[in-house]
Amino acid sequence: MTSDNNLTLAGKRAVVTGAGRGIGRSIALALAEAGADVAVTARSAPELERLQNEIAALGRKSASTVCDVTDPKQVQNMAATLLDQLGGIDILVNNAGNAGSHKFLDHPDELWHRMLAINLTSVYYVTKAFVPQMIEQRAGRIITIASIAARMGDRYIAAYTASKHGVLGLTRALAAELLPYTITVNAICPGYVDTPMTDDSVNNIVARTGMSAEKARATLAKTSPQNRLIQPEEVAAIAVFLAQDGSKGITGQGINIDGGGVMS
Ligand code: NDP
Repeated sequence: MTSDNNLTLAGKRAVVTGAGRGIGRSIALALAEAGADVAVTARSAPELERLQNEIAALGRKSASTVCDVTDPKQVQNMAATLLDQLGGIDILVNNAGNAGSHKFLDHPDELWHRMLAINLTSVYYVTKAFVPQMIEQRAGRIITIASIAARMGDRYIAAYTASKHGVLGLTRALAAELLPYTITVNAICPGYVDTPMTDDSVNNIVARTGMSAEKARATLAKTSPQNRLIQPEEVAAIAVFLAQDGSKGITGQGINIDGGGVMS
């Protein structure tokens, strides 16, 4: 299997957070299809076990462990377990995240802290746990799933927007600091993607406005000039591209995938 030239990630070892469903699941499968051994983590064990079996069925080594990435102790344990099971890692995908919305005037403090914890501080904890081994081997790829909300502001998503702008800043700072170790650090910035998280957004719109689910979904699709939701596999293809040896010149970047809504 490793002799197949089409397997651009053959011999690489990857960890994907928030991999149970949505974008993270697609990235884990795409990395495995490209030849990498892939370990996955999230809070829900049944989704992880199913995915681990699918990765193993592709002929790759796989591992999974349950972890809430907002808890530094759990992150330490998760990293120790997965580093041990994979024998080190070459690719870290910080994907776990969550969206919440509220108008700013009576914005709940709890929502503010929750958004920063899951979308920003968790990336700090997870990266800090894996980066010493990457530094030791003088090579690595760190890929964080930010959002187009890292590039622009919009109504009712102050906390989500602040957290995603923050994670893009963290990406740039780490890219500079880890440069001497040939570790690249990049972010992917998608517009609305067709995942369970977007299903939740549709349900929220329905509950708040009485709009039909079909119309709510169409409203989200219209935020893209291409008038469609991005598919998770499209985001996964960028992650695979960034993980390849040939992408070593790309670091400190945020790559937009939003149908051309933000051109930066
Ligand atoms: P989903 O809600 O569909 O999946 C999120 C995954 O993250 C699940 O596997 C979930 O599993 C896991 N997760 C959530 N909270 C935690 C936690 N505290 N600890 C560990 N794992 C956690 O989300 P998407 O696939 O849509 O989103 C993935 C990433 O992409 C997020 O960072 C999101 O902000 C970003 N993004 C999404 C967009 C979209 O339109 N969907 C657009 C732009 C960016 P579990 O609940 O079992 O822990």
